[in-house]
Amino acid sequence: MPPLLLDGKQLAQTMQAEIAAEAEAFARQHGVRPGLAAVLVGDNPASQIYVRNKRRDCQKVGIDSWQHELPRETTQAQLLEHVARLNADPAVHGILVQLPLPPHIDESAVIRAVAPAKDVDGFTPENLGLLAAGHPRYLPCTPHGVQQLLLRGGIPVDGRHVVIVGRSNIVGKPLALILMQKAPGANATVTVCHSRSRDLAGLTRQADVVVVAIGQARFLKADMVRPGVAVVDVGINRLPDGKVVGDVDFGPVSAVAGAITPVPGGVGPMTITMLLHNTLQAARLQAGGRGA
Ligand code: NAP
Repeated sequence: MPPLLLDGKQLAQTMQAEIAAEAEAFARQHGVRPGLAAVLVGDNPASQIYVRNKRRDCQKVGIDSWQHELPRETTQAQLLEHVARLNADPAVHGILVQLPLPPHIDESAVIRAVAPAKDVDGFTPENLGLLAAGHPRYLPCTPHGVQQLLLRGGIPVDGRHVVIVGRSNIVGKPLALILMQKAPGANATVTVCHSRSRDLAGLTRQADVVVVAIGQARFLKADMVRPGVAVVDVGINRLPDGKVVGDVDFGPVSAVAGAITPVPGGVGPMTITMLLHNTLQAARLQAGGRGA
């Protein structure tokens, strides 16, 4: 039997329709629309596409968005000043600083400069700390998208063994924190693997759910998982022929898995959707209401 395809594109559409209805209700109640400011430094073509797509989806769901394009030579002090102005602007509920930043800028200093109430990426130490302490405010978008794909795809994680390959601050690490929360849609037993893990295949073969986020094309092979496993592929890898593939060897792993995400059309569209969700939540919190 073919595996269940966890279709992120379709789920993103469904969730964006829900967010649009809630954003409209917010605007009716408060007389302002939720607003997201995206800051882009330099001319990284992939970043330009990401920011353009995020703004396109903001528009679709009734969220105001502003793009602040700064030249590559922008100094760290100038960028910090810019972030401070956005922190103080009441029309801006969420701030997104598109990463990566040029090498002369200290990324973590810029992340720390974003007001935690407007940190819709969920990357500031305060928001990550709240998540680690079990009182999350804004969940980082990609791992939150992974959780939603599993939850709404009918893949339970409660009490199950989830093995995450990759421990980055934006995907693997916060995903582990999200799935180990004492909360519905979580309560998983989580193992986090990385490049220093011994016998990686031995670990992934124990999993009920495997999530791969390492940035290596078709890394997870069919003999690294057990039959019926649910597989989530976060990776985005462009091959020399221009084709985009994930971190999972999709064809052979599909023959073994019980459920699997495609690339493209899996986690990617969910990431943007959770950013919209966080921006709406930020607008509610700043309007004095309750978060989502
Ligand atoms: P990253 O910061 O480069 O981290 C990669 C992680 O993978 C590290 O923890 C690294 O281990 C681990 N790793 C690398 N090679 C490994 C191996 N052979 N075996 C086991 N672990 C290995 O990457 P990232 O930012 O998390 O992104 C990962 C992938 O997800 C990329 O393809 C990225 O483009 C994609 N991504 C997609 C979305 C989306 O919206 N779909 C969002 C974010 C990222 P060490 O820590 O030991 O070095």
